[in-house]
Amino acid sequence: MQLSVKSATNIFAVVVILILFTLLLWIDYTRFGDFKDSHVKISKRIVNDIKIEIERSIENKSRLIKLFSEENRELIIDLYKKPQKITLNTTFHRRLKRYFPDLFASAIATERGDPIVDDFGGNVGKMCVSDMQSFARDHYYNVRIHPNKTAYHFDIMNTWNMNGKKVIFFVSFLPDKIARLLQTGQAPNHKLVLVMADKQHLIEIDEAGSRDKITDRIDFHLSAKEQERILYSQPIEGSKWLLVDIRDENLFSDFRSEMVKELAVIFSLFIFATLLMWRLILREETRRTDAEDELRKYVSHTEVLNKELEQVNKKLEVMSIVDEVTGIYNRRYFNQHVATEWNTALRQKTPISILLMDIDHFKKYNDTYGHQAGDECLKSVASEMKSFLRRSSDFVARFGGEEFIAITLGLDEDNAFSIADKLREAIEILHIPHKESGVSDYVTVSCGIVTVTPSKEQSISEIIKLADDALYEAKANGRNQVVHKYNTSSH
Ligand code: GH3
Ligand code: MG
Ligand code: MG
Repeated sequence: MQLSVKSATNIFAVVVILILFTLLLWIDYTRFGDFKDSHVKISKRIVNDIKIEIERSIENKSRLIKLFSEENRELIIDLYKKPQKITLNTTFHRRLKRYFPDLFASAIATERGDPIVDDFGGNVGKMCVSDMQSFARDHYYNVRIHPNKTAYHFDIMNTWNMNGKKVIFFVSFLPDKIARLLQTGQAPNHKLVLVMADKQHLIEIDEAGSRDKITDRIDFHLSAKEQERILYSQPIEGSKWLLVDIRDENLFSDFRSEMVKELAVIFSLFIFATLLMWRLILREETRRTDAEDELRKYVSHTEVLNKELEQVNKKLEVMSIVDEVTGIYNRRYFNQHVATEWNTALRQKTPISILLMDIDHFKKYNDTYGHQAGDECLKSVASEMKSFLRRSSDFVARFGGEEFIAITLGLDEDNAFSIADKLREAIEILHIPHKESGVSDYVTVSCGIVTVTPSKEQSISEIIKLADDALYEAKANGRNQVVHKYNTSSH
């Protein structure tokens, strides 16, 4: 089966569009993957950096507490002994504030975790006490947010040896600095949050601060959907915290819809270009087939013209050898033909007769009956002559005006004369009226005939000349008669 150019073009256009669509989809799929990967990478870098910052901050605070207690040993001992003394309390807090600008409160407790000195107004929270007791027991404590009516805070603790007696010294901090770290560290469309993973992802601190500062939510646990959007997370050493980086809800979907828009634009442009090309190709193809049709038409028209031309040529050929008025051969054809006849007779050594025949007083006929009737008369005489001399070896032509010529082969002198005379008679018997003839009442003819057995010394023109002489004689002798010459001597 052979495909037409049009169907091939259609298939090509569809295939190109399909390939492009697949290609664009693949590019978008890859781009989307790269976009996701890049955000995971950003997330990892940020989470690891901020994790180190927070861990360092906790560690520093713990180290400073130890340093402070060493440097203020006397004061703390005095305060431990007289916790109610205001001047001691004031000095203690002034110095403490200088060490820790983000200080919220502080306390000194016994080895077992019972607070002796505190600036919670004696109301150290239950959580603080429980943390202190667990620290006293395990010498290990993981930082976490303590909800408090005044402010949510977190504690850093350290033990201290006071004259052989172990005491616990802890300082509470506001989470604002950590919140600021999260705020400045997070990337656009990312959100850094510190959560307690073992408490169903309870939010401890985000960019606004702790839960008492977070106003845009009722439930402080990360929802399942939020957990799904966590790009990367790391636990914070020395705390109960897990640092998580959550991507914005619309980050990927926005990118995807942007990509779909781009895809639609590129694809539409390409479809447009392909359709345009497709139209152009089809138009060219239509032009080509039209041109082919045109050519085919032209060729067939030319064939018709050629046939017509052939027929015209045939007609022309006939016309060129046939006399228009009488329908018998003309003198031109006689001149062509006579040599052949002459040569045949010469070859076959057979007699050849040349007969010249002229209508008598034809001028008068025309004058009497008109030129039209004259033509009719010429036709009748020619037709009679032709039907009279109809053997295959006979040849009849109009010699000019009202004169006719005939060639016959193979007739001896007597036969030739006899035939010529019978022809003359037959014409008279046609009874074409000619009242002004003076010879007869009807149209008559005079004939001059020459019969020879040709020899190489003779030429046909000589013979015709002799026939003409004979005709002349016939006219001179009174018309309506035949004068016969043979073997070049007159009869
Ligand atoms: P003659 O007996 O001596 O032959 O006399 P004639 O009148 O026949 O001869 P002449 O040569 O004087 O005149 C010939 C005439 O034939 C003159 C011319 O008008 C006429 N003729 C020649 N050709 C045609 C033709 O094609 N049609 C018609 N109607 N007349 C023709
Ligand atoms: Mg004449
Ligand atoms: Mg005549």
